[in-house]
Amino acid sequence: MVSFYEIVGRLAVYSLVALLALLLISLVLGVLLVKKKKLILPRLLLFTMDALYLQFKKVARAFGLSEKLVDAIGIEVRNHLNREKFARVPPNERIIVVPQCIRHIRCPARLDARHGISCKDCGLCVIKDLKAEAERLGYKLYIVPGGSFVKRIIKATKPKAALGVACHRDLNMGMHEISRKSCAVMGVPLMKDGCVETEVNLEEILRTMRLGIEEVTERASKGCSSSAKV
Ligand code: SF4
Repeated sequence: MVSFYEIVGRLAVYSLVALLALLLISLVLGVLLVKKKKLILPRLLLFTMDALYLQFKKVARAFGLSEKLVDAIGIEVRNHLNREKFARVPPNERIIVVPQCIRHIRCPARLDARHGISCKDCGLCVIKDLKAEAERLGYKLYIVPGGSFVKRIIKATKPKAALGVACHRDLNMGMHEISRKSCAVMGVPLMKDGCVETEVNLEEILRTMRLGIEEVTERASKGCSSSAKV
């Protein structure tokens, strides 16, 4: 007859094997997503990312993969899952949040306690272009000194959609946090991270900012003309 302790022991072993299998499957799916842009079982990936983040990183490390890859998987999977919802939100209900580290080292702008850095359009960094596009489309742009500032902005503005730019780790964590507030969040990771003069993929940010803009504008204009006929 099998003893109680034996049953508990077997259950523990089975759970451990199942956990390891889940982490390995997620790792393979994640690598396929990041390297080959093949999205398979996104909800499973998201579950592993959210519930087993630290274990996922350990398994990746054990296979000689970088921890950055795990964050890249998290960013990619959320981008895929949120893309449609993000694209349906009118631009005036979207925000874009970029880190202050992409500013030029001689940036003349100062920090405002409520709104972050207030860009002066000096043209020394890409923020001038981002700001111009944000204003053209109707986004609110925030240049922030850190993650706690982002939380404050989200709490104060309650956007329906948010586009974040940050290093892989901060972006993945931030997207996880923001998506719990029923906000369609998308992210573009930094190309070169660090503390100062980091680099971004401007084209990718602009492309993401413009997602769904034409359709949303068309829908809004149709809505206006039909209400004008009433
Ligand atoms: S463009 Fe704006 S953010 Fe960039 S360095 Fe000049 S003032 Fe600073």
